[in-house]
Amino acid sequence: MKLTCLACGQANRVPDDALGRGPKCAVCGAGLLPDHPVEVDAATLDKAARGDGLPLIVDFWAPWCGPCRSMAPEFAKAAQGFAGRARFVKLNTEAEPAAGARHNIRAIPTMVKFAGGREVARQSGAMPARAIADWAAG
Ligand SMILES: [Zn+2]
Repeated sequence: MKLTCLACGQANRVPDDALGRGPKCAVCGAGLLPDHPVEVDAATLDKAARGDGLPLIVDFWAPWCGPCRSMAPEFAKAAQGFAGRARFVKLNTEAEPAAGARHNIRAIPTMVKFAGGREVARQSGAMPARAIADWAAG
């Protein structure tokens, strides 16, 4: 399957039988299946959302947003349970306002799930880890 490196944005082809062996980016060596949320820029987000073989769970947040900061550890906790099945990323809408606008983010935190190259679910408001996991699995 195709997996965009969340660290450098390189598209990697990963054979199915390599998914369980901690596949790494061919360019920068970063792990392609992190068990924690990775901060991405707008370009990497768009690449990963468009064509990756695993679902992508995005937390649109900003440093000035209190509920966003309190949800961060819950989002990280939820990500651990999805290692190898989905990837969790964070997009700072203060640093990347164009990305927030393009994805029509009206309130933060907002989580968006991408699968099969398109948005399949969206949820606004902070949630505990269990609720995030239930939503992400749906
Ligand atoms: Zn890389």
